[in-house]
Amino acid sequence: MINLAVFGNPIAHSRSPEIHGLFAQQFGIALNYQKVLVPADGLAQAVAELIRQGARGCNITVPFKSQALALCDEVKGDAIGLGVINTLDFAPNGKVYGYNTDAQGLITDLKDHLEQSIHGRRVLLIGAGGAAQGVVPALLREAPETLHVWNRTPQRAEQLVPLVPSSQLGAKPCEQLDEQYDLIINASAAGLKGSAPDLPSRIIGPGSFCYDLSYSDSETPFLQWASGLGAKHRADGFGMLIEQAAAAFYIWFELSPDCLLYTSPSPRDGLLS
Ligand code: NAP
Repeated sequence: MINLAVFGNPIAHSRSPEIHGLFAQQFGIALNYQKVLVPADGLAQAVAELIRQGARGCNITVPFKSQALALCDEVKGDAIGLGVINTLDFAPNGKVYGYNTDAQGLITDLKDHLEQSIHGRRVLLIGAGGAAQGVVPALLREAPETLHVWNRTPQRAEQLVPLVPSSQLGAKPCEQLDEQYDLIINASAAGLKGSAPDLPSRIIGPGSFCYDLSYSDSETPFLQWASGLGAKHRADGFGMLIEQAAAAFYIWFELSPDCLLYTSPSPRDGLLS
């Protein structure tokens, strides 16, 4: 039996155990994947305990992605530089390697499943927490015309910009936001509290594609808000969830699960239930 876990606070909403359980079934792997509610100051202790139990690794979710950096012996891939970690690999040599698979999950979902190009489009990223930070380099690699970042606490968006120098990237307060972005990505945690970020309606037009990293069995508050403003094209983060999990699964097992089993056909909500 191979042990894995996801650590977060809150954690009840997490579907990672189901997803990794289904991936493991594809390869006949016996898996024990726990979701664990961790107190604000308890991440290091929770990870140490998991290592002591001989686990293979873990996922890290809200709000611990930055804290997880301190637990890594080495950081790899998109996590380098930004220091937000969503996957820990407990290697046989005793080292802890840190990765961020959120970006791969988001880009694969947008491009492959939802057929949304980022190239040449005006993109608004809402949020500057762990998830938002993790996806900025990958979004910039797709060469958008602009990538504006808005955050409820503006200083946090301003601190993010110099970490990834790019003429396309800018932190914007509410009054400087454009009209009718082509692609709007909500990476805030507002949905976890049942609300949408407080943003002006002019950012959304009928042609705006609205994507919410949050996911839910019913439409998320952000997507409901966008729908009310006439946005015809909307998707939640369920496909990203599947793809970021598949990237983590590959890190632990060097096996690529078939994600299309769960991300198509549309609508994809509820496919795991
Ligand atoms: P985090 O590090 O705790 O950051 C939270 C972010 O949300 C901050 O920017 C915070 O702004 C903002 N925020 C919180 N409440 C808000 C509100 N009421 N209005 C506006 N902004 C608000 O969390 P995270 O790890 O970035 O996760 C963010 C969300 O993405 C979560 O819902 C998570 O479940 C989701 N997520 C989904 C996937 C997926 O695979 N689909 C992957 C990663 C994350 P302040 O700086 O002002 O506090």
